[in-house]
Amino acid sequence: MRVAIASFEFEGNSLSLRVARKEDFARFGIFHGEDVTRVAAGKQFSITGALDTLTEAGVEVVPIFMSRCVSGGHVDDTFYDEVVDIIAEGISAALPLDGVYLSLHGAMICATEKDPEGGVIRAVRERLGDPAIPIAVSLDLHAHVTQRMADMAQIIVGYETYPHVDAYRTGACAAGLLVRAMKGEIDPVTRIRKYNAIVPVLGGATLGDEPMAQVAALSRGLEAEGRALSVSYFPVQPWLDMADVGVTGLAVTDGDPAAATEVAQQVLDAIWDRRRVFELPAMTPAEAVRAAVDYPGRTLIVDAPDAMGAGAQGDSPALLSALLEVAPETDAAIYIVDPETAARAFELGEGAEAEFHIGAKQDDRWFRPVSVVARIERLCDGRFTYSGGPASGATVTTGQTALLRKGGVRILVGSFPFYEHMDEHYAACGIDIAGCKIASFKNLMNYRKLLGPGVQYIPLHGPGGAPLRLQDVAWENRQRPFWPADDTDQPQPLPATA
Ligand SMILES: [Zn+2]
Repeated sequence: MRVAIASFEFEGNSLSLRVARKEDFARFGIFHGEDVTRVAAGKQFSITGALDTLTEAGVEVVPIFMSRCVSGGHVDDTFYDEVVDIIAEGISAALPLDGVYLSLHGAMICATEKDPEGGVIRAVRERLGDPAIPIAVSLDLHAHVTQRMADMAQIIVGYETYPHVDAYRTGACAAGLLVRAMKGEIDPVTRIRKYNAIVPVLGGATLGDEPMAQVAALSRGLEAEGRALSVSYFPVQPWLDMADVGVTGLAVTDGDPAAATEVAQQVLDAIWDRRRVFELPAMTPAEAVRAAVDYPGRTLIVDAPDAMGAGAQGDSPALLSALLEVAPETDAAIYIVDPETAARAFELGEGAEAEFHIGAKQDDRWFRPVSVVARIERLCDGRFTYSGGPASGATVTTGQTALLRKGGVRILVGSFPFYEHMDEHYAACGIDIAGCKIASFKNLMNYRKLLGPGVQYIPLHGPGGAPLRLQDVAWENRQRPFWPADDTDQPQPLPATA
């Protein structure tokens, strides 16, 4: 058995101004051919799980391509087209093949191609020729699964967990089904069901008995009962301004499309039934800082509207402004993207003190830069290695990164937005957040891994590239009615699945 594998992962956000170009993907790495297996080996990536599973099954693996990038607005057409060509050419060169495995995020946006992952799968399918050759795809739980994707891939498996800790398992699961399909043991078919509804990402944890954990439990139960080979639920990256984006249920069955549709519907209804309980309470920056000062322990302030992992720019100075005004002497740490300020700090050197105008330069739609006289405490290269999550083991950089200090507030000024996991980026520049009464994060879920006794978290609300209140966004392309803008008890199936 001979299988080609490739990975091309990006999460888009229609509200974000950020364009991901080749150089942005290059910061994570762009790998071809055998470099894919060399770099993926020993990691916790989805493609690593697939690679290990295929190798254990005695499959000859043909690695083609691997790259990913932090979430943002959209991928520029030039790089997208280049990657699709590379993958397509790689498939042609690898023929004859018995199967293909693709590791995709599922919520990519491009300027021209309206269904980027569907475009990748279609290119692969065209080069394979034979529609019976199985294609297996692993996706993020926030994927926007299109009808075209489900039509062209026999096997689609999404992450089960949020925080995402199961990328490896997801790749292994998709590849395991692929092996069984290639051996003729199963005849996998994938079906989706979708409603015109989006739910807040922040309340979508699969921890404990939280609402999405109940959906996860239902899905595992359906698998255990033998109702489907694999069941996935996609609460979806909600900041996608497209008509066919909505919460989705998905099932893969053994040659039974009607059963797959039924199971997908059951999972979809489980998300819909819980739609009112995904919204968490949040505060303004000033309220959050006051509450943190009053709290006896430590507080993680979650700057949700500026969450880099959701595609926002990471340069909102709203919380910095509140810290300097409300609690300037409190030990606090904040990360903010501002390449100009970082470069200036490198010119001035460690120990210098100067007036800086920080933030709101990449995205100036909501805030103005905050002026502050601060001392340059440390300069660093921003390099760190992820200790967990879907990029576990990968080394990335925030670029030229300067640690500034004003009173108790330490301002870590990086050159790039990045996917925050835990506190690796702070530690890389010498900040121990255990010593900070307030530490801020620009992600929607991974901060939960830093909670413990005496540590609380407070989400912020306000304007930004990833606003919490989805009903307040001026959507241009969503069809009405949709949840949560229109409070209806009647779910609206999207046309793609009607
Ligand atoms: Zn995700």
